[in-house]
Amino acid sequence: MSNQTNLFYQFPDKTEITSKIIATRPHFFGTAIAVEENIVRAAGGGEPRDVGKVNGSPIQQVEKQEGKTWIAFDSDPALYKPDTVVEIELDRDHRDQRRRLHTGVHLAIRSAYNHFDDIRVTEAEIAEDASSAIIKGDVSRAIDKGDIAQIDMSMRSTVLKELPVTLNRAKSVDHAEEEHGHLFRVSDRHAFRGKVRLVCIDGFDVNPCSGLHHPDSNIGPYEMRANFSGSSSGKFEIRLNLSPCWMYWYGD
Ligand SMILES: [Zn+2]
Repeated sequence: MSNQTNLFYQFPDKTEITSKIIATRPHFFGTAIAVEENIVRAAGGGEPRDVGKVNGSPIQQVEKQEGKTWIAFDSDPALYKPDTVVEIELDRDHRDQRRRLHTGVHLAIRSAYNHFDDIRVTEAEIAEDASSAIIKGDVSRAIDKGDIAQIDMSMRSTVLKELPVTLNRAKSVDHAEEEHGHLFRVSDRHAFRGKVRLVCIDGFDVNPCSGLHHPDSNIGPYEMRANFSGSSSGKFEIRLNLSPCWMYWYGD
């Protein structure tokens, strides 16, 4: 069986491809295929899976198994055998919005981290439809609207600076920390063994991550909202909505 190459890290802008099937298996939706050159990313790291079509038929599920990405779609299994060539087309906007939001999540967490000195992030998820992201966490003191205003200001000025977002590698989490100093943060160092893939927002944040990113910190128009229901116990909940305007408010 030939190997699969995942192209989405190196070529995140590529949303169409003609590729050869290297393996198939029966699936609830008809067929699941693994293709040689793959552009479809499964859900993971708080990001929903890619949305798209295989030969015009909607992708129903994307699974990672046996070291491969499997794409399941409504199909007649007899039509899809190894060596068959298929056309895969992804929803470009969904991919783009996810990348913007995902980079936005890094910006918001780093802004909160800088403001509070230390935070514990318990959840960072992008909605299935890639229209918004939610970040939940806690700090060791009560939170008020002023805190969120500071975080919002920090994030907004970082967005406007258009800092380049680049990918790097480090031999280990310890090496990354040594090289990047105070810019480096990691939420759970025990989750990483050996080499780590680092996402570097120039001069602002370095964090191990396997997600897909926008090429710079200018993620475009968005609004930040905060939920204050748990704020007296130090819980924060921030939502980023991709919204086609620059007017926004928070904590209402
Ligand atoms: Zn990331």
